[in-house]
Amino acid sequence: MSARLIIASNRIALPGAPKPGGLAVALADALAERGGGIWFGWSGEVVERETRGVRLFAEGLVEYAVADLTPEEYEGYYLGYSNRALWPVFHYRVDLAHFDEADFAAYEHVNRRFARLLVQFTRPDDVVWVHDYHLMLMGQEMRASGWDGRMGFFLHIPFPAPEIFSALPQHQRLARGLCSYDLIGFQTNRDTANFRRYLIENAGAVVEDARTLRVFDRSVRIETFSIGIDPDEFAELAESREGRAAAERLGKITENRALVIGVDRMDYSKGLPQRMEAFGRVLDDHVELRGDVSFVQIAPPSREAVDAYQMLREQLDQLAGRINADYADLDWMPIRYLARSYGRGSLAGLYRLARVGLVTPLMDGMNLVAKEFIAAQHPDDPGALVLSEFAGAAEQLPAAILVNPHDIAAMADAIFRALSMPIEERRERWQSLIANVREQDIAWWRRAFLASLDDTQT
Ligand code: ADP
Repeated sequence: MSARLIIASNRIALPGAPKPGGLAVALADALAERGGGIWFGWSGEVVERETRGVRLFAEGLVEYAVADLTPEEYEGYYLGYSNRALWPVFHYRVDLAHFDEADFAAYEHVNRRFARLLVQFTRPDDVVWVHDYHLMLMGQEMRASGWDGRMGFFLHIPFPAPEIFSALPQHQRLARGLCSYDLIGFQTNRDTANFRRYLIENAGAVVEDARTLRVFDRSVRIETFSIGIDPDEFAELAESREGRAAAERLGKITENRALVIGVDRMDYSKGLPQRMEAFGRVLDDHVELRGDVSFVQIAPPSREAVDAYQMLREQLDQLAGRINADYADLDWMPIRYLARSYGRGSLAGLYRLARVGLVTPLMDGMNLVAKEFIAAQHPDDPGALVLSEFAGAAEQLPAAILVNPHDIAAMADAIFRALSMPIEERRERWQSLIANVREQDIAWWRRAFLASLDDTQT
Protein backbone atom coordinates (compact mmCIF):
# COMPACT_ATOMS: atom_id res chain seq x y z
CA MET A 1 0.00 0.00 0.00
CA SER A 2 1.69 3.19 -1.12
CA ALA A 3 1.55 6.44 0.80
CA ARG A 4 -1.26 8.89 0.19
CA LEU A 5 -0.53 11.60 -2.39
CA ILE A 6 -1.16 15.29 -1.72
CA ILE A 7 -0.99 17.62 -4.72
CA ALA A 8 -0.83 21.40 -4.54
CA SER A 9 -1.19 23.62 -7.59
CA ASN A 10 -2.33 27.17 -8.18
CA ARG A 11 -5.39 26.20 -10.20
CA ILE A 12 -7.34 23.07 -9.61
CA ALA A 13 -9.82 21.14 -11.70
CA LEU A 14 -12.89 20.74 -9.52
CA PRO A 15 -14.87 17.50 -9.46
CA GLY A 16 -17.80 17.39 -11.80
CA ALA A 17 -16.39 20.11 -14.05
CA PRO A 18 -14.77 18.96 -17.29
CA LYS A 19 -11.00 18.62 -16.85
CA PRO A 20 -9.57 21.56 -18.83
CA GLY A 21 -6.52 19.77 -20.09
CA GLY A 22 -4.15 16.86 -19.99
CA LEU A 23 -2.39 17.95 -16.83
CA ALA A 24 -5.59 18.05 -14.81
CA VAL A 25 -6.47 14.56 -15.98
CA ALA A 26 -2.95 13.33 -15.26
CA LEU A 27 -2.96 14.63 -11.71
CA ALA A 28 -6.42 13.24 -11.02
CA ASP A 29 -5.18 9.89 -12.37
CA ALA A 30 -2.09 10.07 -10.17
CA LEU A 31 -4.30 10.57 -7.12
CA ALA A 32 -6.58 7.69 -8.13
CA GLU A 33 -3.64 5.38 -8.83
CA ARG A 34 -2.20 6.01 -5.36
CA GLY A 35 -5.47 4.94 -3.86
CA GLY A 36 -6.63 8.44 -3.04
CA GLY A 37 -5.37 11.70 -1.70
CA ILE A 38 -5.91 15.41 -1.66
CA TRP A 39 -5.67 18.04 -4.36
CA PHE A 40 -5.21 21.47 -2.90
CA GLY A 41 -5.20 24.85 -4.64
CA TRP A 42 -6.81 28.15 -5.45
CA SER A 43 -10.52 27.93 -6.17
CA GLY A 44 -10.20 30.44 -9.01
CA GLU A 45 -12.36 32.82 -7.01
CA VAL A 46 -11.50 36.25 -5.69
CA VAL A 47 -13.51 37.32 -2.66
CA GLU A 48 -13.34 40.40 -0.49
CA ARG A 49 -12.73 38.75 2.85
CA GLU A 50 -10.02 36.17 3.36
CA THR A 51 -11.87 32.97 4.03
CA ARG A 52 -10.04 31.27 6.84
CA GLY A 53 -10.43 27.70 5.86
CA VAL A 54 -10.72 25.64 2.75
CA ARG A 55 -13.75 24.25 1.04
CA LEU A 56 -13.77 20.51 0.59
CA PHE A 57 -15.27 18.40 -2.17
CA ALA A 58 -14.91 14.70 -2.69
CA GLU A 59 -14.88 12.66 -5.88
CA GLY A 60 -14.24 8.96 -5.42
CA LEU A 61 -11.13 8.56 -3.34
CA VAL A 62 -9.90 12.07 -4.02
CA GLU A 63 -10.59 15.03 -1.80
CA TYR A 64 -10.39 18.50 -3.28
CA ALA A 65 -9.51 21.35 -0.94
CA VAL A 66 -9.75 24.87 -2.32
CA ALA A 67 -9.04 28.31 -0.93
CA ASP A 68 -10.10 31.70 -2.32
CA LEU A 69 -7.84 34.70 -2.85
CA THR A 70 -8.56 38.23 -1.69
CA PRO A 71 -8.37 40.98 -4.34
CA GLU A 72 -5.01 42.09 -2.88
CA GLU A 73 -3.65 38.57 -3.02
CA TYR A 74 -4.86 38.10 -6.57
CA GLU A 75 -3.20 41.35 -7.60
CA GLY A 76 0.10 40.86 -5.75
CA TYR A 77 0.62 37.10 -5.76
CA TYR A 78 -0.99 36.08 -9.03
CA LEU A 79 -0.91 39.02 -11.44
CA GLY A 80 2.01 40.70 -9.73
CA TYR A 81 4.83 38.45 -8.65
CA SER A 82 3.83 35.29 -10.55
CA ASN A 83 2.93 36.84 -13.87
CA ARG A 84 4.74 40.19 -13.93
CA ALA A 85 8.03 39.01 -12.39
CA LEU A 86 8.52 35.22 -12.43
CA TRP A 87 6.90 34.43 -15.78
CA PRO A 88 8.85 37.02 -17.82
CA VAL A 89 12.20 36.35 -16.09
CA PHE A 90 11.88 32.58 -16.41
CA HIS A 91 11.11 33.10 -20.12
CA TYR A 92 14.19 35.32 -20.54
CA ARG A 93 12.18 38.55 -20.77
CA VAL A 94 13.86 40.55 -18.04
CA ASP A 95 12.93 43.61 -20.11
CA LEU A 96 9.24 42.93 -19.44
CA ALA A 97 9.65 42.10 -15.75
CA HIS A 98 8.23 44.33 -13.08
CA PHE A 99 9.88 44.00 -9.67
CA ASP A 100 7.83 45.17 -6.74
CA GLU A 101 8.59 44.36 -3.11
CA ALA A 102 4.90 44.46 -2.24
CA ASP A 103 4.14 41.87 -4.92
CA PHE A 104 6.78 39.58 -3.48
CA ALA A 105 5.35 40.08 0.01
CA ALA A 106 1.93 39.01 -1.31
CA TYR A 107 3.53 35.99 -3.01
CA GLU A 108 5.22 34.95 0.20
CA HIS A 109 2.02 35.55 2.15
CA VAL A 110 -0.10 33.34 -0.11
CA ASN A 111 2.54 30.59 -0.17
CA ARG A 112 2.62 30.69 3.64
CA ARG A 113 -1.15 30.79 4.01
CA PHE A 114 -1.60 27.90 1.59
CA ALA A 115 1.14 25.89 3.34
CA ARG A 116 -0.48 26.34 6.74
CA LEU A 117 -3.87 25.37 5.35
CA LEU A 118 -2.49 22.25 3.72
CA VAL A 119 -0.36 21.06 6.63
CA GLN A 120 -3.53 20.57 8.67
CA PHE A 121 -4.63 17.85 6.27
CA THR A 122 -1.40 15.90 6.09
CA ARG A 123 -0.56 12.62 7.78
CA PRO A 124 3.06 11.69 8.52
CA ASP A 125 3.44 9.11 5.75
CA ASP A 126 1.87 11.25 3.00
CA VAL A 127 3.83 12.33 -0.07
CA VAL A 128 3.43 15.97 -1.12
CA TRP A 129 3.83 17.15 -4.73
CA VAL A 130 3.76 20.91 -5.37
CA HIS A 131 3.40 22.35 -8.88
CA ASP A 132 4.79 25.30 -10.71
CA TYR A 133 6.10 28.81 -10.34
CA HIS A 134 3.22 30.18 -8.29
CA LEU A 135 4.09 27.96 -5.33
CA MET A 136 7.88 27.77 -5.23
CA LEU A 137 7.99 28.85 -1.57
CA MET A 138 5.20 26.61 -0.38
CA GLY A 139 7.57 23.78 0.55
CA GLN A 140 9.70 25.94 2.77
CA GLU A 141 6.57 27.26 4.46
CA MET A 142 5.31 23.69 4.93
CA ARG A 143 8.60 22.79 6.62
CA ALA A 144 8.28 25.87 8.83
CA SER A 145 4.81 24.66 9.81
CA GLY A 146 6.19 21.31 10.90
CA TRP A 147 5.91 19.13 7.81
CA ASP A 148 8.96 16.87 7.52
CA GLY A 149 7.68 14.16 5.22
CA ARG A 150 8.54 13.63 1.57
CA MET A 151 7.94 16.58 -0.67
CA GLY A 152 8.59 17.17 -4.35
CA PHE A 153 8.22 20.13 -6.69
CA PHE A 154 7.81 20.27 -10.45
CA LEU A 155 8.44 23.42 -12.48
CA HIS A 156 6.31 23.49 -15.62
CA ILE A 157 8.07 26.50 -17.15
CA PRO A 158 11.75 26.89 -18.09
CA PHE A 159 14.39 27.52 -15.46
CA PRO A 160 16.59 30.23 -16.96
CA ALA A 161 20.36 30.57 -17.08
CA PRO A 162 21.72 31.64 -13.66
CA GLU A 163 22.60 35.13 -14.96
CA ILE A 164 18.94 35.67 -15.88
CA PHE A 165 17.52 34.11 -12.71
CA SER A 166 19.81 36.36 -10.67
CA ALA A 167 18.03 39.41 -12.06
CA LEU A 168 15.17 38.63 -9.69
CA PRO A 169 15.78 40.65 -6.53
CA GLN A 170 14.60 37.66 -4.49
CA HIS A 171 16.60 34.98 -6.32
CA GLN A 172 18.41 33.79 -3.20
CA ARG A 173 15.22 33.37 -1.25
CA LEU A 174 13.57 31.50 -4.08
CA ALA A 175 16.54 29.17 -4.52
CA ARG A 176 16.73 28.43 -0.82
CA GLY A 177 12.97 27.89 -0.73
CA LEU A 178 13.14 25.43 -3.62
CA CYS A 179 15.82 23.44 -1.83
CA SER A 180 13.34 22.63 0.95
CA TYR A 181 11.89 20.03 -1.39
CA ASP A 182 13.47 16.57 -1.53
CA LEU A 183 13.06 16.38 -5.30
CA ILE A 184 12.91 19.24 -7.79
CA GLY A 185 11.78 18.24 -11.27
CA PHE A 186 12.37 20.23 -14.45
CA GLN A 187 11.05 19.85 -17.98
CA THR A 188 14.39 19.53 -19.78
CA ASN A 189 18.07 18.84 -19.21
CA ARG A 190 18.66 22.47 -20.10
CA ASP A 191 16.59 23.60 -17.09
CA THR A 192 18.13 21.03 -14.76
CA ALA A 193 21.63 22.11 -15.76
CA ASN A 194 20.74 25.79 -15.24
CA PHE A 195 19.47 25.21 -11.73
CA ARG A 196 22.43 23.02 -10.77
CA ARG A 197 24.85 25.63 -12.08
CA TYR A 198 23.05 28.36 -10.14
CA LEU A 199 23.33 26.37 -6.89
CA ILE A 200 26.97 25.44 -7.43
CA GLU A 201 28.08 28.95 -8.37
CA ASN A 202 25.89 30.97 -6.01
CA ALA A 203 25.03 28.79 -3.05
CA GLY A 204 28.15 26.67 -2.59
CA ALA A 205 26.38 23.46 -3.55
CA VAL A 206 28.51 20.32 -3.62
CA VAL A 207 27.80 17.44 -5.98
CA GLU A 208 26.80 14.29 -4.10
CA ASP A 209 25.94 12.11 -7.06
CA ALA A 210 24.74 12.52 -10.63
CA ARG A 211 21.39 13.89 -9.53
CA THR A 212 21.92 15.02 -5.95
CA LEU A 213 23.43 18.23 -4.58
CA ARG A 214 24.32 19.01 -0.98
CA VAL A 215 23.16 22.58 -0.41
CA PHE A 216 21.73 24.65 2.46
CA ASP A 217 22.55 21.70 4.78
CA ARG A 218 20.29 19.31 2.89
CA SER A 219 20.52 16.77 0.12
CA VAL A 220 18.36 17.77 -2.82
CA ARG A 221 17.66 15.66 -5.85
CA ILE A 222 17.35 17.58 -9.12
CA GLU A 223 16.11 15.70 -12.15
CA THR A 224 14.51 16.04 -15.57
CA PHE A 225 10.98 14.74 -16.22
CA SER A 226 9.68 15.94 -19.59
CA ILE A 227 5.92 16.18 -19.43
CA GLY A 228 3.87 14.37 -22.06
CA ILE A 229 0.31 13.99 -23.25
CA ASP A 230 -2.13 11.13 -23.73
CA PRO A 231 -1.52 10.44 -27.44
CA ASP A 232 -4.38 7.96 -27.83
CA GLU A 233 -6.80 10.57 -26.58
CA PHE A 234 -5.66 13.03 -29.26
CA ALA A 235 -5.73 10.45 -32.02
CA GLU A 236 -9.31 9.62 -31.02
CA LEU A 237 -10.30 13.27 -30.71
CA ALA A 238 -9.04 13.91 -34.25
CA GLU A 239 -11.62 11.40 -35.48
CA SER A 240 -14.36 12.38 -33.08
CA ARG A 241 -17.54 14.09 -34.21
CA GLU A 242 -16.31 17.41 -32.85
CA GLY A 243 -12.94 17.00 -34.56
CA ARG A 244 -14.42 16.12 -37.92
CA ALA A 245 -16.97 18.91 -37.70
CA ALA A 246 -14.28 21.52 -37.05
CA ALA A 247 -12.14 20.20 -39.90
CA GLU A 248 -15.12 20.30 -42.21
CA ARG A 249 -15.99 23.89 -41.31
CA LEU A 250 -12.45 25.09 -41.90
CA GLY A 251 -12.00 22.83 -44.91
CA LYS A 252 -14.92 24.54 -46.66
CA ILE A 253 -13.05 27.82 -46.50
CA THR A 254 -9.53 26.64 -47.21
CA GLU A 255 -10.72 24.20 -49.87
CA ASN A 256 -7.76 22.43 -51.44
CA ARG A 257 -5.21 24.86 -50.14
CA ALA A 258 -2.47 23.61 -47.86
CA LEU A 259 -3.20 24.53 -44.27
CA VAL A 260 -0.56 25.80 -41.88
CA ILE A 261 -1.73 25.89 -38.28
CA GLY A 262 -0.62 27.50 -35.02
CA VAL A 263 -2.39 27.09 -31.67
CA ASP A 264 -1.12 29.01 -28.66
CA ARG A 265 -2.25 30.97 -25.68
CA MET A 266 -1.70 34.60 -26.61
CA ASP A 267 1.58 35.04 -24.78
CA TYR A 268 4.76 36.96 -25.64
CA SER A 269 6.79 33.79 -25.07
CA LYS A 270 5.12 32.09 -28.03
CA GLY A 271 6.87 34.07 -30.79
CA LEU A 272 3.61 34.93 -32.55
CA PRO A 273 4.74 38.17 -34.26
CA GLN A 274 7.88 36.48 -35.59
CA ARG A 275 5.76 33.58 -36.84
CA MET A 276 3.39 35.88 -38.71
CA GLU A 277 6.31 37.77 -40.21
CA ALA A 278 7.88 34.51 -41.33
CA PHE A 279 4.64 33.50 -43.01
CA GLY A 280 4.55 36.90 -44.70
CA ARG A 281 8.11 36.28 -45.87
CA VAL A 282 7.08 32.96 -47.43
CA LEU A 283 4.49 34.85 -49.47
CA ASP A 284 7.07 37.52 -50.39
CA ASP A 285 9.52 34.92 -51.62
CA HIS A 286 7.17 32.40 -53.25
CA VAL A 287 4.78 34.02 -55.67
CA GLU A 288 3.55 30.56 -56.64
CA LEU A 289 2.20 29.96 -53.14
CA ARG A 290 0.04 33.07 -53.08
CA GLY A 291 -3.56 31.99 -53.11
CA ASP A 292 -2.54 28.41 -52.39
CA VAL A 293 -1.75 28.27 -48.72
CA SER A 294 -3.67 29.41 -45.64
CA PHE A 295 -2.25 30.06 -42.23
CA VAL A 296 -4.68 29.67 -39.33
CA GLN A 297 -3.48 30.98 -36.00
CA ILE A 298 -5.68 30.29 -32.99
CA ALA A 299 -4.62 32.42 -30.04
CA PRO A 300 -7.03 33.01 -27.16
CA PRO A 301 -6.10 36.07 -25.09
CA SER A 302 -4.79 35.34 -21.60
CA ARG A 303 -3.72 37.45 -18.60
CA GLU A 304 -5.26 40.54 -20.14
CA ALA A 305 -4.83 42.47 -16.89
CA VAL A 306 -1.06 42.46 -17.49
CA ASP A 307 0.13 45.31 -19.78
CA ALA A 308 2.58 43.25 -21.80
CA TYR A 309 -0.32 41.06 -22.96
CA GLN A 310 -2.37 44.03 -24.13
CA MET A 311 0.58 45.31 -26.15
CA LEU A 312 1.05 41.92 -27.77
CA ARG A 313 -2.61 41.85 -28.73
CA GLU A 314 -2.29 45.19 -30.52
CA GLN A 315 0.88 44.11 -32.26
CA LEU A 316 -0.71 40.90 -33.57
CA ASP A 317 -3.88 42.66 -34.71
CA GLN A 318 -1.73 45.05 -36.73
CA LEU A 319 0.58 42.46 -38.21
CA ALA A 320 -2.17 40.09 -39.30
CA GLY A 321 -4.08 43.05 -40.72
CA ARG A 322 -1.07 44.25 -42.67
CA ILE A 323 -0.11 40.88 -44.13
CA ASN A 324 -3.71 40.19 -45.11
CA ALA A 325 -4.08 43.62 -46.67
CA ASP A 326 -0.89 43.09 -48.66
CA TYR A 327 -1.74 39.66 -50.01
CA ALA A 328 -5.41 38.80 -49.66
CA ASP A 329 -7.51 38.44 -52.78
CA LEU A 330 -11.24 38.37 -53.39
CA ASP A 331 -11.34 34.65 -52.72
CA TRP A 332 -8.36 34.12 -50.44
CA MET A 333 -7.25 35.28 -47.03
CA PRO A 334 -3.62 34.39 -46.19
CA ILE A 335 -3.93 34.56 -42.39
CA ARG A 336 -6.99 33.60 -40.38
CA TYR A 337 -6.17 34.91 -36.95
CA LEU A 338 -8.69 33.81 -34.33
CA ALA A 339 -8.32 35.33 -30.89
CA ARG A 340 -10.48 32.76 -29.16
CA SER A 341 -10.28 29.26 -27.82
CA TYR A 342 -11.68 26.00 -29.17
CA GLY A 343 -12.46 22.69 -27.54
CA ARG A 344 -9.81 19.99 -27.51
CA GLY A 345 -11.79 17.92 -30.01
CA SER A 346 -11.97 20.79 -32.49
CA LEU A 347 -8.24 21.48 -32.11
CA ALA A 348 -7.43 17.83 -32.75
CA GLY A 349 -9.55 17.88 -35.93
CA LEU A 350 -7.77 21.03 -37.14
CA TYR A 351 -4.32 19.60 -36.36
CA ARG A 352 -5.17 16.61 -38.49
CA LEU A 353 -6.40 18.75 -41.36
CA ALA A 354 -3.18 20.79 -41.36
CA ARG A 355 -0.23 20.07 -43.62
CA VAL A 356 2.12 21.99 -41.36
CA GLY A 357 2.11 22.71 -37.63
CA LEU A 358 3.99 25.82 -36.49
CA VAL A 359 5.19 25.68 -32.89
CA THR A 360 7.77 28.42 -32.68
CA PRO A 361 7.97 29.87 -29.15
CA LEU A 362 10.90 32.12 -28.25
CA MET A 363 11.09 30.13 -25.01
CA ASP A 364 8.78 27.45 -23.64
CA GLY A 365 8.96 24.98 -20.77
CA MET A 366 7.77 22.08 -22.93
CA ASN A 367 4.94 23.02 -25.31
CA LEU A 368 2.22 20.44 -25.36
CA VAL A 369 0.71 21.71 -28.60
CA ALA A 370 3.72 20.21 -30.44
CA LYS A 371 2.93 16.78 -28.99
CA GLU A 372 -0.81 17.13 -29.55
CA PHE A 373 -0.19 18.03 -33.19
CA ILE A 374 1.91 14.91 -33.67
CA ALA A 375 -0.60 12.64 -31.93
CA ALA A 376 -3.49 13.94 -34.05
CA GLN A 377 -1.86 13.19 -37.45
CA HIS A 378 -3.04 10.43 -39.75
CA PRO A 379 -0.24 7.85 -40.06
CA ASP A 380 -0.67 7.57 -43.85
CA ASP A 381 -0.54 11.29 -44.57
CA PRO A 382 0.95 13.07 -41.56
CA GLY A 383 1.62 16.80 -41.49
CA ALA A 384 5.07 18.23 -40.83
CA LEU A 385 6.05 19.93 -37.60
CA VAL A 386 8.15 23.11 -37.53
CA LEU A 387 9.44 23.38 -33.97
CA SER A 388 11.44 26.04 -32.17
CA GLU A 389 14.74 24.89 -30.77
CA PHE A 390 13.79 26.88 -27.65
CA ALA A 391 10.71 24.78 -26.90
CA GLY A 392 11.44 22.18 -24.24
CA ALA A 393 9.90 19.60 -26.58
CA ALA A 394 12.81 20.07 -29.03
CA GLU A 395 15.04 17.98 -26.73
CA GLN A 396 12.78 14.98 -27.31
CA LEU A 397 11.71 15.66 -30.90
CA PRO A 398 14.80 16.01 -33.10
CA ALA A 399 12.84 14.66 -36.09
CA ALA A 400 10.85 17.89 -36.30
CA ILE A 401 12.11 20.70 -38.54
CA LEU A 402 13.93 22.65 -35.84
CA VAL A 403 14.17 26.42 -36.23
CA ASN A 404 15.49 29.48 -34.49
CA PRO A 405 12.34 31.59 -34.06
CA HIS A 406 14.35 34.83 -34.01
CA ASP A 407 15.62 34.14 -37.51
CA ILE A 408 12.70 35.14 -39.73
CA ALA A 409 14.40 34.10 -42.97
CA ALA A 410 15.29 30.66 -41.57
CA MET A 411 11.73 30.25 -40.33
CA ALA A 412 10.34 31.17 -43.73
CA ASP A 413 12.65 28.55 -45.29
CA ALA A 414 11.47 25.97 -42.76
CA ILE A 415 7.81 26.68 -43.51
CA PHE A 416 8.50 26.37 -47.22
CA ARG A 417 10.40 23.11 -46.67
CA ALA A 418 7.56 21.74 -44.57
CA LEU A 419 5.01 22.70 -47.22
CA SER A 420 6.97 20.97 -49.96
CA MET A 421 8.11 17.93 -47.98
CA PRO A 422 7.50 14.65 -49.86
CA ILE A 423 5.10 12.23 -48.25
CA GLU A 424 7.81 9.59 -47.60
CA GLU A 425 9.84 12.06 -45.58
CA ARG A 426 6.77 13.23 -43.68
CA ARG A 427 5.94 9.63 -42.77
CA GLU A 428 9.46 8.84 -41.74
CA ARG A 429 9.80 11.87 -39.52
CA TRP A 430 6.37 11.34 -38.01
CA GLN A 431 7.20 7.72 -37.09
CA SER A 432 10.12 8.96 -35.08
CA LEU A 433 8.12 11.81 -33.49
CA ILE A 434 5.13 9.69 -32.51
CA ALA A 435 7.41 7.03 -31.01
CA ASN A 436 8.67 9.57 -28.51
CA VAL A 437 5.26 11.04 -27.80
CA ARG A 438 3.96 7.54 -27.08
CA GLU A 439 6.88 6.41 -24.99
CA GLN A 440 7.21 9.46 -22.79
CA ASP A 441 3.53 10.11 -22.34
CA ILE A 442 1.73 11.72 -19.44
CA ALA A 443 1.46 8.51 -17.41
CA TRP A 444 5.20 7.92 -17.82
CA TRP A 445 5.87 11.46 -16.57
CA ARG A 446 3.89 11.24 -13.37
CA ARG A 447 5.05 7.73 -12.57
CA ALA A 448 8.70 8.64 -13.15
CA PHE A 449 8.41 11.70 -10.91
CA LEU A 450 6.64 9.88 -8.09
CA ALA A 451 8.97 6.86 -8.27
CA SER A 452 11.95 9.16 -7.88
CA LEU A 453 10.30 11.05 -5.02
CA ASP A 454 9.46 7.79 -3.22
CA ASP A 455 13.10 6.84 -3.56
CA THR A 456 14.62 10.02 -2.01
CA GLN A 457 16.24 9.86 1.41
CA THR A 458 14.31 11.53 4.18
P1 ADP B 1 1.07 26.88 -22.15
O1 ADP B 1 0.99 25.96 -20.96
O2 ADP B 1 2.17 27.90 -22.09
O3 ADP B 1 -0.24 27.53 -22.49
P2 ADP B 1 1.31 24.42 -23.75
O4 ADP B 1 1.45 24.29 -25.24
O5 ADP B 1 2.24 23.59 -22.99
O6 ADP B 1 1.45 25.97 -23.42
O7 ADP B 1 -0.15 23.99 -23.30
C1 ADP B 1 -1.25 24.66 -23.80
C2 ADP B 1 -2.50 23.79 -23.68
O8 ADP B 1 -3.62 24.64 -23.91
C3 ADP B 1 -2.55 22.69 -24.71
O9 ADP B 1 -3.10 21.53 -24.16
C4 ADP B 1 -3.44 23.27 -25.81
O10 ADP B 1 -4.22 22.29 -26.48
C5 ADP B 1 -4.33 24.22 -25.05
N1 ADP B 1 -4.59 25.38 -25.91
C6 ADP B 1 -3.70 26.22 -26.43
N2 ADP B 1 -4.28 27.12 -27.23
C7 ADP B 1 -5.59 26.84 -27.23
C8 ADP B 1 -6.73 27.39 -27.87
N3 ADP B 1 -6.63 28.40 -28.73
N4 ADP B 1 -7.93 26.85 -27.62
C9 ADP B 1 -8.02 25.81 -26.77
N5 ADP B 1 -6.98 25.24 -26.15
C10 ADP B 1 -5.78 25.74 -26.38
